Amino acid sequence: MKLLCDEMLKGLCRWLRAAGYDAEQASEGESDRNLLARAHASGRILLTRDRKLQEHRNAADTLCLLNCNGVDACARELTEKLAIDWLYKPFSRCLICNVPLDLLPRGDFSQAPVDVRDQTLLHCPSCKRIYWEGNHVQRMRIKLRNWAAAGQQRNIPPYC
Ligand SMILES: [Zn+2]
Repeated sequence: MKLLCDEMLKGLCRWLRAAGYDAEQASEGESDRNLLARAHASGRILLTRDRKLQEHRNAADTLCLLNCNGVDACARELTEKLAIDWLYKPFSRCLICNVPLDLLPRGDFSQAPVDVRDQTLLHCPSCKRIYWEGNHVQRMRIKLRNWAAAGQQRNIPPYC
């Protein structure tokens, strides 16, 4: 499932990437018409809270209209409406670029902080940002697990 988030859903877009989904973000000031065309052309579901988008021709088959306020509520609503699996492929994509992460080559370890070099290090081939299991990632994993557990109402085996 590929997604496209409108400008108002930047935070949610980041969380979808954290869960491993291919989630693009609307460009600043991108028109509704453009967004819908982009969603159609790339086979993406357009996520929005903007009801006006519904009025466009051909909107119905690509639009997912959300009513939520705040990222927790939006996560819940997406679980219900699109069966989003928040533990799909956690931290497999760059949160900034939406590009799949690669293993950081040994030769580039010097770019990572000294105290994390014994970990599995991933990097974004586009922006070169390095990812590892720091506190921030661990906190985000907890949130993803909570959303998954709340949505599926079954026992989720701990990730790792
Ligand atoms: Zn990146």
